[in-house]
Amino acid sequence: MTIYNLGSINIDHFYRVPHLPAPGETLAAESYTVGLGGKGANQSAAAAKAGARVVHIGAVGSDGTWAVDRLAGWGVDTRHIARLDTPSGHAIINVDAGGENAIVLFPGANWALPFSLIDAALAGAGPSDTLLLQNETAHQAEAAALARELGMRVIYSAAPFDIGAVQAVLENVTVLALNAVEADQLAAAMGIGLDLIDVPELLVTRGAEGAEWRSREGDRAVAAPVKVHAVDTTGAGDTFAGYFAAARDAGRPPAAALSLAGAAASLKVTRHGTADAIPTLDEVEAFRA
Ligand code: ATP
Repeated sequence: MTIYNLGSINIDHFYRVPHLPAPGETLAAESYTVGLGGKGANQSAAAAKAGARVVHIGAVGSDGTWAVDRLAGWGVDTRHIARLDTPSGHAIINVDAGGENAIVLFPGANWALPFSLIDAALAGAGPSDTLLLQNETAHQAEAAALARELGMRVIYSAAPFDIGAVQAVLENVTVLALNAVEADQLAAAMGIGLDLIDVPELLVTRGAEGAEWRSREGDRAVAAPVKVHAVDTTGAGDTFAGYFAAARDAGRPPAAALSLAGAAASLKVTRHGTADAIPTLDEVEAFRA
């Protein structure tokens, strides 16, 4: 009934550029904005906007207080976000005229958070709860192992892709969530076809083509493509993951969770920005109507 999200919190610096810069190129940006981002914060925002009870586990520096306040404003429980004597994680995000992005990330406080924070946050968690994970904080593998011991559902976005990190978490994962590129990278790194990756549930998002899901037992479901005018795909995968987690937490079956998450993510790509731009459940329902 509660989604605990061990997740990054980043300060996103957005530059709209005519095209993504080539090596050695200096490019004038057409606009600059600052927003809340990080895969973790995005997923907490998405799950909370989808109506779930969300506890965020993470860390910021003294420059990140506004980011924590923003999460709290969406109803996220921020009591397990540590304030560390380290700069907050931040990202330089270039977005081109077609909505494609290129990102440079400084992990900062996200990589400095202590395991004791996770241990304390999960003290009251149990089998009806979910742990959400991505690859942008410290201690993912230990958190997944602890969550598994507690009988929690573990939903893991293996992004940014790192084969060592994935292998360390994999045995304790309930739902492994990948985008198409990560799916290819994982299959290649493991030397097996995607269908042979042995996890209880595998979720693969495929951009404008929607998404697909399968269980170990062979059940399958899809999020059908939703045709929209995409202006910024940043955070699309996180919107999908957060909405999917919230829908499953609320007891919706996989097919219904996929369809809701697909609608939310497709609506997101019609907007500029990351966490701020993630739609609320009311907006998603109006979009689907
Ligand atoms: P990102 O890294 O840009 O946040 P991602 O690569 O993790 O995203 P994608 O597979 O590109 O994830 O997109 C996630 C979901 O967002 C898709 O499954 C789809 O529902 C929606 N989506 C993404 N791009 C589009 C698009 N151009 N049109 C419609 N829906 C889209």
